[in-house]
Amino acid sequence: MDLISRENPARTTEIVGRVPVTGADGVDAAVRRAASAQREWAARPIGDRVATLRQAAETLAGRVGELAVLLAREAGKPLADCRGEISFALAHLRWVCEHAPRVLAPAETDDAAGRLVVRRAPYGVVGCVTPWNAPVILAVVKLAPALAAGNAVVLKPSPLAPLTVGEVAAALPGVEAVHGGAATGRALVTHPLVRKVAFTGGDAAGREIAAAAGAMLTPTVMELGGNDPAIFLPDFALSGDDYERLVMATFATSGQVCMAAKRLYVPRARTAEFTEAYRAAAARVLVAGDPLTPGVTMGPVISAQAADRVRGLVAASVERGGTEVTLGRMDADPESGYFVTPTLVTGLDDHAPLVAEEQFGPVVPLLSYDTEEEALTRANAGELGLGASVWSADEDRAFALAARLEAGFVFVNTHNRTGMSLRAPFGGVKRSGYGREYGEEGLLEYVQSAVVHAPAAFRRDGAGMSATAYPV
Ligand code: NAD
Repeated sequence: MDLISRENPARTTEIVGRVPVTGADGVDAAVRRAASAQREWAARPIGDRVATLRQAAETLAGRVGELAVLLAREAGKPLADCRGEISFALAHLRWVCEHAPRVLAPAETDDAAGRLVVRRAPYGVVGCVTPWNAPVILAVVKLAPALAAGNAVVLKPSPLAPLTVGEVAAALPGVEAVHGGAATGRALVTHPLVRKVAFTGGDAAGREIAAAAGAMLTPTVMELGGNDPAIFLPDFALSGDDYERLVMATFATSGQVCMAAKRLYVPRARTAEFTEAYRAAAARVLVAGDPLTPGVTMGPVISAQAADRVRGLVAASVERGGTEVTLGRMDADPESGYFVTPTLVTGLDDHAPLVAEEQFGPVVPLLSYDTEEEALTRANAGELGLGASVWSADEDRAFALAARLEAGFVFVNTHNRTGMSLRAPFGGVKRSGYGREYGEEGLLEYVQSAVVHAPAAFRRDGAGMSATAYPV
């Protein structure tokens, strides 16, 4: 049997755990088990389903400490972040349990037009394919609404962080986990009994999965990459704490977050002041090192390949005339793991690869602008439209500009996870994806309307209607 061995990205000689690779036969068996469990699960009243899920949330809440250590070791994220991610995932699960019975209740009408019931029916088996950067929350944000709605789930996590999410999946009812890379993912998304596919990951895999699922007429929800602009309006007034939050909005999880602040647009007249305050805030808050060491706020990147790619982006930026500003403090031996020095780059044009493409690593470009219209046009350039932020002392002014940004989620005076809300739908526009997670829309993503209708004309005392008439 093939095994995936996952090393600790901070100490690459340490193997954190192994999972077996699931072949096509194994995927088939998992989907069939899920399909048969789903019928019984869906037949239970929603109150029973959410009670079972609440119980699972409580059991997992007692294991946050242990799971966080495992997550820190396999994904290279600081321990406090790992605790935060798992606790946030459980908060999301509880939010779903609280709201699903209302949001998914059937709408029933019985009036002069007839009797109409619109049910929110589950799809059946949902196939979920997820990435490694926030493996627990990015799985739970699919599993919780799908399960509450009466679906079963087969989850294929990333082979780069399969361990913690495997434990979480095992604690939830109606979930099968399969492991492996693209081949296992392909077998899952093209399985004839998979009725919906939920994907979070990069552009290339997203296109391939959407095409493969499309060939099966299987609907998809796609959460893809972002290249989030953060626009600082000329009146921006940031305290030291605000700058620290801004630094972490880029460098949390070593910049490997879909909605990280990835391009900073600063008024030209305030660029020097901004750069200095940003550098000073990073010196206070950004400590790169082993994720299990207290006080460390940034770990390594996920793999040697990711480290090479990000260092290549910095080198290409310098060759193009950019200036590197090294940030924070490196407390790790860079040779022990996949550590990349956190860096700000100034003096780039918008066509530089670091600006035009998603960097997904601990480096960020600072770009100067002259007018608000220019900043807006430059921020909206490109194919991605996941998140964005506007920073201003005047909230109304920030909201006015936010409404003109091509992004699925605009944060005001913050960015990244500090701006998230369990009740707000999250997802991208343009090539950042389609469909939504979180909030009521996130619940509705896993149901289809199924209607039962008795028109008044044909009920016991109805007046009848000509066989060729329209019901108007
Ligand atoms: P990836 O696309 O390489 O992999 C994601 C998952 O898809 C993994 O489980 C992988 O094994 C699987 N996969 C890859 N190719 C496949 C194929 N052809 N068929 C089936 N499965 C396949 O992404 P990654 O490197 O794990 O994650 C990084 C990307 O994810 C970034 O672009 C990031 O912005 C994006 N992301 C988006 C969100 C969001 O909510 N929008 C959140 C986190 C990450």
